[in-house]
Amino acid sequence: MPTIRRSASSRVSAFFRDWSLPRQMAGQSVMAEAARSTPSETLRPRLEQADRVGTSICPFCAVGCAQLIYAKNGKPIHIEGDPRSPVNQGTLCPKGAGTLGVLLSPERINQVLYRAPHSDRWEEKPLDWAMERIAQLTKQARDETFVERLPDGKLVNHTVGVASLGGATLDNEENYLIKKLFGGGLGMVSIENQARI
Ligand code: SF4
Repeated sequence: MPTIRRSASSRVSAFFRDWSLPRQMAGQSVMAEAARSTPSETLRPRLEQADRVGTSICPFCAVGCAQLIYAKNGKPIHIEGDPRSPVNQGTLCPKGAGTLGVLLSPERINQVLYRAPHSDRWEEKPLDWAMERIAQLTKQARDETFVERLPDGKLVNHTVGVASLGGATLDNEENYLIKKLFGGGLGMVSIENQARI
């Protein structure tokens, strides 16, 4: 079929055009002309567009790798490891290397989603509504399960009916406040964070 022949011919032509070996054998330098291909001719330095660079810490785990965030017109365009950091020395693991996606992904959920008991669907709710409901249910569960003294009379003032599991994107200050509020304030015993798991 003519269409398939043209396509195959075109692919063979592109293969020889972009394959460096024939050009190396013809005398071109592997470090210069012979290394070029149609895709590589269109490549640009990934930071060429950036007009600003700032520093940050990877939000994902307790290792705390340092990051450089490159931006253009106030919008992040690239994130990489900071080579000045003794922790990661310019590297990032696959999670940290994907930080830009956390910031910009269209899949990121930016509104409260609520699934009512026994419902099979999610509803969008205002943030204030969600905060109030969480506070009310936390207080209710805490009051219903609060134990002041153990059967032997030992004072404990705690609840094992409510637990907290924080995400790795919580920073030190947030975790400190969680420990103070949930532990000292509400008497919760089970307080954990994904970064320690
Ligand atoms: S998730 Fe990866 S890049 Fe981020 S702090 Fe932890 S080890 Fe470092």
